[in-house]
Amino acid sequence: MIEPVYAPAPTRYDAMEYRRSGRSGVKLPVLSLGLWHNFGSYKPMQEIKAMAHFAFDKGVCHFDLANNYGPEFGTAEENFGLLMERSFRPYRDELFISTKAGWDMWPGPYGNWGSRKYLMASLDQSLKRMKLDYVDIFYSHRYDPETPLEETMQALVDAVHQGKALYAGLSRYPANKAREAYRYLAAHDVPCLLYQDRYNIIDRVPQEKGLIDLGAEYGSGFISFSPLQQGLLTGRYLNGIPADSRMARGTSLREDALTPTMLDALRGLADLAQQRGQSLAQMALSWLLNDPRVTSVIIGASSVAQLADNLKALEGTGFSAEELHRIEAISAPIQLLR
Ligand code: NDP
Repeated sequence: MIEPVYAPAPTRYDAMEYRRSGRSGVKLPVLSLGLWHNFGSYKPMQEIKAMAHFAFDKGVCHFDLANNYGPEFGTAEENFGLLMERSFRPYRDELFISTKAGWDMWPGPYGNWGSRKYLMASLDQSLKRMKLDYVDIFYSHRYDPETPLEETMQALVDAVHQGKALYAGLSRYPANKAREAYRYLAAHDVPCLLYQDRYNIIDRVPQEKGLIDLGAEYGSGFISFSPLQQGLLTGRYLNGIPADSRMARGTSLREDALTPTMLDALRGLADLAQQRGQSLAQMALSWLLNDPRVTSVIIGASSVAQLADNLKALEGTGFSAEELHRIEAISAPIQLLR
């Protein structure tokens, strides 16, 4: 059977909010879609397509990828390439697509960390897998203490000069190295567009380390990943561990995260969310969007239903002082500060 040609919803930009990334010309949807889990080889293409189309139909025009998203490594980018071929090609200029290199990707000394050799080869591979001429932003996925920072940064600058990426970004850098990186990039006329880190009601590290304000100082936007702490900040684990959940798959979210203290706090947060007329997931996303320093929040989702739930967070981004105070009090015992 021939599938109908995808036609995105004409209303796709009506309800989404777009925020400017730092001092750049780029605006991003406040909710972006990440393809770390749920878009790799084990997920049926029909489901991948349904989630990607649903997202774009709702104005989610930023898709966040990395070389090793899957599982297996590379398969999320391959599947995104199929989406480009079959659905998104006519809309390429409406899409903001990222990729990254910095974590383990292929064996040997050139498939990990921050060398120019790795970053350049990885970006070429990513473009082939995604069937793209360029990505909108290429990130150094993590700081490499053994490679001179200048080498990693110059690779980002050159990727932009070669037209393989329009902008450069950083993810998970220590604050002092992030500062050096911002300076290097700015001095080479490729200012950092986005700093990406995990930030949510539970994980406050970027705030505590001053990374959000540091990026703003250098004109960078801030984009939060794992805003639901991989699913903990949802109703998913309040009554056990569902067989089809990320925790049950045992990859990046471990069962030992579900301590009695964690469960108590999650239940308290879920009660508060209910009083606000929201799901816990919605409240967790709204809490992030309540902070004007947050340019965008990269959600993960394993179904269209989860995406639909999460998109409703846009309707409740206001909080009373009392509600914010209660969130602090309930989450205090589970906050990661480091
Ligand atoms: P989340 O914190 O949003 O977790 C997503 C998971 O939460 C889903 O897979 C699903 O779990 C569960 N979930 C989502 N919505 C709901 C809902 N409404 N109700 C119930 N459960 C829900 O984000 P991720 O950890 O997936 O990270 C998001 C993106 O951030 C990644 O895809 C990636 O692009 C980026 N990222 C970047 C990193 C970096 O180093 N720069 C590191 C990690 C992520 P389930 O599968 O169990 O259904």
